[in-house]
Amino acid sequence: MQKDHRCNLEACPKCSRRFRIRMTTELLRMIEGWEHCTVLSLVPEKMRVPLGKLHELSFKRLIDRVRKRLSRSGLRDCAFFGSFDLSLNVEDNEDPHWQAHLYLHIRHPKNSALKRKVSEAFKFEPTALRPYIAKAMPSSRSRRASEVGGSITYAFKRDFYRRSGFTGRKGERRTAGQRLRNSERAETVTLMAGLRVGARVFFRGLRRDGRFVREI
Ligand SMILES: [Zn+2]
Repeated sequence: MQKDHRCNLEACPKCSRRFRIRMTTELLRMIEGWEHCTVLSLVPEKMRVPLGKLHELSFKRLIDRVRKRLSRSGLRDCAFFGSFDLSLNVEDNEDPHWQAHLYLHIRHPKNSALKRKVSEAFKFEPTALRPYIAKAMPSSRSRRASEVGGSITYAFKRDFYRRSGFTGRKGERRTAGQRLRNSERAETVTLMAGLRVGARVFFRGLRRDGRFVREI
């Protein structure tokens, strides 16, 4: 393989790693100037497709929808960095489906107003166990770096998991992570092989300027 190799496909370990490192660096630089940053893990409705139909899931369509919803919401003036992760969800060994999860780093304090604005922007997936999780981004540089690195890793990981939902002994809903079966993994490989590097990532209040991301 040549040194200056650039296929820019997400399925390529070299290109996705290069992009991930660059994004992490740029986002840390950007968040540095934010007075608040909250990391949201969200499961909006209509971001799932049945097992065997992963080719019908379009990150581009999901991103367009999320952008539109946010731009019409009380969060319209907040800069954000968004990314998507994917899992195969199973409930009591039934209803296997692919579920996209939305991660948002948003310039907003973690408070009840944020939850209200997010709830006005999105209807949540009724089958999701925890469709809204908010975490304040830590103020220390090193912890911030590990959180930004972690969420970007979600947007670039190509090894997905099965989340198996079941009822615990005390009647509580629980989930367990499991490996995908080969046929299931093949679906994700096919999807990723058709994606450009960065296809699961989107911004607002920022623009990509050549190699870098800058705040507008
Ligand atoms: Zn490549």
